[in-house]
This record gives sequence, structure tokens and C-alpha cells, in this order.
Amino acid sequence: MSPTIRFNDGNQIPQLGFGVWQVPNEGANAAVTAAINAGYRSIDTAAAYQNETGVGDALAASSVPAKDLFITTKLWNADQGYDSTLRAFDASLKKLRLDKLDLYLIHWPVPSRDRYLDSWKALIKLREEGRVASIGVSNFQIPHLERLKAEIGVVPAINQIELHPRFQQKALRDYHAKEGIATEAWSPLGQGRLLADPAIAAIAGKYGKTSAQVILRWHLDIGNVAIPKSVTPARIAENFKVFDFKLAPEDIAAIEKLDDPHGKIGPNPDTFS
Ligand code: NAD
Repeated sequence: MSPTIRFNDGNQIPQLGFGVWQVPNEGANAAVTAAINAGYRSIDTAAAYQNETGVGDALAASSVPAKDLFITTKLWNADQGYDSTLRAFDASLKKLRLDKLDLYLIHWPVPSRDRYLDSWKALIKLREEGRVASIGVSNFQIPHLERLKAEIGVVPAINQIELHPRFQQKALRDYHAKEGIATEAWSPLGQGRLLADPAIAAIAGKYGKTSAQVILRWHLDIGNVAIPKSVTPARIAENFKVFDFKLAPEDIAAIEKLDDPHGKIGPNPDTFS
């Protein structure tokens, strides 16, 4: 079973979850079912992934009750704004076939539209109404987080950001720790590109683990929530077998050295719309 991280609102999220970006809707049922069978209890989807219906099918068919699962989805950029956020939330919940969500995130800040404050107010209302247990953001940079705090005064439970050994986001992680925001790593395996790294392979050999397991263990050891994706049942199961070892400080230090100023894979949150 995954350990959990406690949010600033008192709720808890499993530290290791399952991400379904780029999983087609038709494949989402099988992938999520494989993940739940392997022991995952946290699933990360988004309206933009267009697979909420397939995820909902897996949840409805699962023998694990909804109260034991932790479901995250995200507000898409085009739906930002107060009323449109409330409508988008209803649409996502309907597709997921849930009455209540565990975590709703604003997917990107989209500063060019400047609607994230209104969207955040809508998330606060949804939480007050008990329709979502926890609310957070994704891809927010320090100035965006500072604005939420200064202008609305409600700090997100979590910020889901690109984070892997080649893009470690130390400054943002330190800010999160100071402000009581949990850090969630997207593309925790660097979309698979880090698995051939010789330094990681050497550490994997030392523990008798795979490179993917070592990277996920690194995330857990430094306090991140991580949501690796795979559609291959054997890899889905492999990625969950990381609770029986811990990295020694020298191995964590060796992975810290892989941080790379050119290591970012995804778009720039300041300009992405
Ligand atoms: P990831 O780092 O999880 O890598 C996934 C890829 O790594 C797989 O497609 C596969 O090719 C490979 N892989 C996984 N396990 C493996 C194993 N054991 N052995 C060998 N290869 C393996 O990348 P991701 O899918 O981009 O990110 C994970 C999740 O993060 C997504 O599914 C999504 O839920 C979330 N995400 C969020 C955002 C955002 O903007 N909030 C952006 C990207 C991803």
C-alpha cells in the first residue's frame, strides 16, 4: 500500500498514483483496472485527456469502493472563469460517474487569459459545497501562487508540476514546503527518457531494482507525490513495487546531480494556453 501525504486541509493523498495522459478513452478502462489490481488507489486524469468516461467505467466496475479510491481530474484552459469552471466540473463528474471528487486542479495558469483567480473562486465554492474534498493547481509558478494567496487568501492543497531527475524544480519545491503546498510530480519518469541513464541504472543494480523503480523511490524519498503512467500491466505493477526499499543518502545525492538546465520536457507555464 502506498504511504500518504497530508494536505493543508487535513485530507490525505496516496504518495504514488497512476496517471492516464495519452491513454485513449477505449484503453482507459483496462489500464485503470490493471492499476487498481496492482494496488494503486489514486488515479490522475483531466478533462483534456478525453478519457474520463473510460476511467469512470473502470471505477464503476471495480470491487474497490469509491471511498477507498482517490480520484483527481483537472479543469481545462478553455473552461477557465467562474461559471464555466462550475459547468466543467459537473461535466467531468458526470463522465467519471462520481457524486464527489477527491481533488480538482486548475490544469494550467494561462496568465494570458488572466482567469485563474475566478476559476480558483469556483473551486473554493465547490469545496464549500462538499462536491470536492480538496482543491489545487497544476503548472503554477511562484508568482501565480503568490497571487492566489494575496488576492483570495486560500492556498492550494497541491501543485502538480513537471518534476523528474533532469528537472528537479528545487526553488518551487522549497516554496511549496514553506507555504504548506504538497508537490506532485508529473512525468515523474521524464516520459521514460530517463530510464537509460547510466547513473540511475548503476543505482538500480545496487538495489536489485529497475531504473523506473529507483526514480519513483527517489520521488517518494524526497517527499513528492508521483503519478507514473504506463498501459503495460507488467510495468504498471513494476512501478508500484517500490515500498520495500529506500535510497541511501549518497544515491539521492547522485540523482540530485542529474538536474539539468535543459532538462525540461513540457511547455512553459508562463506562456502555454
Ligand atoms: P511518465 O514520466 O510517467 O512516463 C511514462 C512513460 O514511461 C510510459 O509511456 C512508458 O513509455 C514509460 N514507462 C513507464 N513505466 C515504465 C517501466 N516500468 N519501464 C519502462 N518504461 C516505462 O510520463 P507522463 O505520462 O507524461 O506523466 C505521468 C502522468 O502525469 C500523466 O499520465 C498525467 O496523469 C500527468 N501529467 C500531467 C501534466 C500536467 O500538465 N498536469 C502533464 C503531463 C503529465
